[in-house]
Amino acid sequence: MRLRNIPRADSVLEASPLVISSLQKVRGAWNSQVFKEDHPIHIEIGMGKGQFLLSLATQNPHINYIGIERYSSVLLRAVEKLGDLLPENLRFLCTDARTLPDIFQKGEVSAIYLNFSDPWPKARHAKRRLTSSFFLPLYHQILKTDGRLEFKTDNRLLFDFSLEEIQASPVFELVSSTYDLHRDPVLSRGNIMTEYEEKFSSKGNAICKLIARPKE
Ligand code: SAM
Repeated sequence: MRLRNIPRADSVLEASPLVISSLQKVRGAWNSQVFKEDHPIHIEIGMGKGQFLLSLATQNPHINYIGIERYSSVLLRAVEKLGDLLPENLRFLCTDARTLPDIFQKGEVSAIYLNFSDPWPKARHAKRRLTSSFFLPLYHQILKTDGRLEFKTDNRLLFDFSLEEIQASPVFELVSSTYDLHRDPVLSRGNIMTEYEEKFSSKGNAICKLIARPKE
């Protein structure tokens, strides 16, 4: 998702109490300096307009959620959608996933969600896919040893690539996977739909999901 550049985006995000900008100061101190309560931290990378995280944050007040989105024009939509709402357990960051180890200390994050990540279909761009062997070690650095990585997409090629990357990874192992999440009796339980999930499943596309965990 890339919206046209919106000139006011940066100043609106800077002024929003939902958006955290002073990254260095909060690394290792998210729970003490950003959130009011000390809870497990879950993050979504490439959160788009934020529907998934807002639903999770509302349902789970004992988890602190951070949405990461690299385009300010996209994050602006999420912030504007929330209006005056300021859930205590939800914050956003405008940055690229490549910077994760600068944002979170080792083991600071309990769960990472990747939803409908950009497919980067050309082979020469494979490293840019958020489930590639470039990104998996970054996730491993910030996840707790008992943490988990969850990935959903309707893109079968990207999903198969992701399964292969996890299976070949020295730092992650596959816990479970499905090619039809909405019909899977176990994995569909409590599923929260993202904007893209609603759009593609309403067209009849099956949704794939995998869950992985750090290797011992
Ligand atoms: N997760 C949302 C959903 O399922 O409805 C949005 C999916 S959208 C296709 C993918 C989003 O990931 C885009 O908003 C894009 O800007 C963001 N994104 C892609 N690569 C990223 C990266 N390296 N770091 C942070 N965000 C990224």
